Amino acid sequence: MNITDNFYSLATPGVQRLVPYTPGKPIEELERELGLSDIVKLASNENPLGPSPMALAAINATLPDLARYPDGNGFKLKRALAEKFSVEMSQITLGNGSNEILELLARAFLTSTHEVIFSQHAFAVYPIVTQAVGATGVVIPARAYGHDLDAMLAAVNDKTRLVFIANPNNPTGTLLASDELRRFIAALPSHVLCVLDEAYYEFIDPKSRADSIAWLVDHPNLIVTRTFSKAYGLAGLRVGYSFSNPGIADFLNRVRQPFNNNMLALAAAEAALADHEHLQRTIAINNDGMQQLIDGFRQLELEWIPSAGNFVSVDVKRSGEAVYQALLQKGVIVRPVANYEMPDYLRISIGTPAENSRCLEALKAVLADV
Ligand SMILES: *Cc1c(COP(=O)(O)O)cnc(C)c1O
Repeated sequence: MNITDNFYSLATPGVQRLVPYTPGKPIEELERELGLSDIVKLASNENPLGPSPMALAAINATLPDLARYPDGNGFKLKRALAEKFSVEMSQITLGNGSNEILELLARAFLTSTHEVIFSQHAFAVYPIVTQAVGATGVVIPARAYGHDLDAMLAAVNDKTRLVFIANPNNPTGTLLASDELRRFIAALPSHVLCVLDEAYYEFIDPKSRADSIAWLVDHPNLIVTRTFSKAYGLAGLRVGYSFSNPGIADFLNRVRQPFNNNMLALAAAEAALADHEHLQRTIAINNDGMQQLIDGFRQLELEWIPSAGNFVSVDVKRSGEAVYQALLQKGVIVRPVANYEMPDYLRISIGTPAENSRCLEALKAVLADV
C-alpha cells in the first residue's frame, strides 16, 4: 500500500520529527537477501556465548504455566536483584529491556516544556524517548568521543528536567572517571533527574567501575539503569531494570503496562543473575576478544576508540557505510554509525575467537578494495 502523507499533520510535533531507531541487521534477513549461510553477526552487542544454561532451564520449567499472567510486580526477580545489589525492592523498576525504563522516565517526568540533555554520539534511544513526548533534546558536543560533563552541566537551566549519561557510552565505548561523574551528579540542581545508563556495567574493569548504586543514598535524583540484554545474554527476552529512590520508582510504576515483563523473561533473568560462572566466562571471552580485535586493527593500521564495553568503534578511514555493505557480502554484519555522526567508523561487537577472526579477515579483504 502507498504511504499517504495525510497523517503527518495528525502526528504530534515531536513524533513528526522522529527518526526511527535502526537496529543491527538480523542474521535471517541477510540470509534471505543474499542466500548466504554461516553468517557472523557482530552488530548488536549480544553475548557470543548465548544465554546461561540456568536461564534456559528456568524457561523450560516455566513453560507449563504460560496460560497464566506473569507476576505483574516481578517479585522474585526484584527480590534477587535487591539481595545481590543491597537495595530495597521498592527502589527497583523492571522494564521490557532497559529501553522501556528510559521511555517510562520520559513519560512520567517530561512534557513539551522540558529540556533533556545528552551528549553527541550518545545512545540513539535518548533523542527518541525525548521527542516522542514532545520535550526538547539538547545535544552537547562530545569531548574525545565521550561526555563533556562540564559542558553538560553548563547547559542545565530551569527547563532542564532530565540528563542522560551512558557509561560506558554506546557506540563509542567511552567511560567516565568515577569521581568526575559523582561530582557532576552532586552539582545537578534537585529539579534535574540524572539517568545513568549502565547497560555495559558488567564489562567495565572492576577497578574503574563507579559505585553508582551507593550514590543513590545521597542523590535522590539519580536513576541507575542496567539490563539483562548484554552481559547476561538475554537480549531476546527484553529485561532491564533500574535502581532509584522509591519515589521515582513509584511514578514509573504508575505509567508502565501492568504486565510489562513476560513470565519466561522474569524466570530466565532471575536464574541468569545467579549464574556467576557464565558471567565470568562472558567477561573473560570479551576481554580476550577485545584484545584480538585491537591487535587486528593495529595490523590493518586502523585506529579505534578505547572501549569499556563489549564492542569497539574503529575508524575505517573511508565511508563506514560502504565498508559495512561490502562486509555484508562476505556474511559479516557489523554496525555502521553514520547516524551517530561517525560516518568513517564501524562499531563491532566482540564475538567468539572464530567470529572475531572472520570479521578481521573480511575487513582486511574489503579494505583492500573499497
Ligand atoms: C543496549 C543498550 C541499552 C538497552 O538495551 P535493552 O535491551 O533495552 O535493555 C541501553 N543503553 C545502552 C547505551 C545500550 O547500548
